[in-house]
Amino acid sequence: MTFFGRLKKMMSFSSAQDVKEEGAGKIEPGEKVHGRPRVHVLATGGTIAGRQVSTGPRYRAGVLDVEALLGAVPALRGLADYSSEQMANIGSQDMDELLWLKIARRVNELLADPDVGGVVITHGTDTLEETACFLDLTVRDPKPVVLVGAVRPAGALGADGAVNLIDAVTVAANPGSVGRGVLVVMHGGLFEARDVTKVSSSSLLAFAAPNSGPLGQLVDERVYFGHRTGLSPKRPVFDVSRLDTLPPVGIVYGHAGATALPVKAMIEGGYRGIVSAGVGSGNLHRDVLAALADASGRGVAVVRASRVPSGLTLRNVEVDDNRYGFVAAGALNPQKARVLLQLALTRTRKPEEIQKVFDGY
Ligand code: GLU
Repeated sequence: MTFFGRLKKMMSFSSAQDVKEEGAGKIEPGEKVHGRPRVHVLATGGTIAGRQVSTGPRYRAGVLDVEALLGAVPALRGLADYSSEQMANIGSQDMDELLWLKIARRVNELLADPDVGGVVITHGTDTLEETACFLDLTVRDPKPVVLVGAVRPAGALGADGAVNLIDAVTVAANPGSVGRGVLVVMHGGLFEARDVTKVSSSSLLAFAAPNSGPLGQLVDERVYFGHRTGLSPKRPVFDVSRLDTLPPVGIVYGHAGATALPVKAMIEGGYRGIVSAGVGSGNLHRDVLAALADASGRGVAVVRASRVPSGLTLRNVEVDDNRYGFVAAGALNPQKARVLLQLALTRTRKPEEIQKVFDGY
């Protein structure tokens, strides 16, 4: 069935019969349910909770509250019992470490509850991949955690929020999703947190996993797992329950004619780590290389990643990582390398130890 066919089918769920069963699938937080999996929805904002506005910018993210969001999709009740909670209502360009820590703590708490089968997090798409990666590295429980967003706000022609929500709850309620790490669902695709990235700022097909491809797909409210990767037994998992903040880490973007200025500013600003979004296989302009070598010599952790959307940044290819004490990001893009470096720095400042953490993910 096509995207629009599914949309029509979902809209037809809002029939008189559904109205009669109003609230059948929804339960109050803490209420015990048996038989069906209970999915807890944490809402953080984004376009999925956005509305079109008539003046100024075309729409505002993070307007609808979680009740309105879920209430608009009656078909959810047919999939799972659910409870919900508003954690924030922001455009995800404003996502920060404090909110990450709060969400991680709440997710860990929820999953420890035997009555919760899985968690769905609604999120803006701009930084969704970073939150997914952060949670993948800070949630130990194997129960499903699924992030979902939308490209078009509610009310827009072809709005994708409802279908994406249905897909996310479908995945969170599916026993086959257990033990696969944090997952992302968008436009019928199922992705792993480590590899997924936003690849279009305008298309409905906004997400992809350039290195690994999708983990599966959703068709007619069913999830089909394409391949079994299994999580690396060496995957690092960080306990953030006692952290109030994370070490500051910045990203410097590589380009022709790059200068040392941003690196120097980060060193002066007291950054504990710098990720280079280098060119090609993570290469650096000679001036940037010199500045990063200096940073590394001063105890600032330096990770080389690449601005290229797919491929690996491996050690000692064109840059002598051993000599400069750099870490290579492997398959992680710069924004995810930053997440992992922030977490790694809560354990160690040694480049060789940090490299092991990167190699394990
Ligand atoms: N910039 C907003 C955000 O990331 C809207 C983008 C979206 O959700 O698609 O929350």
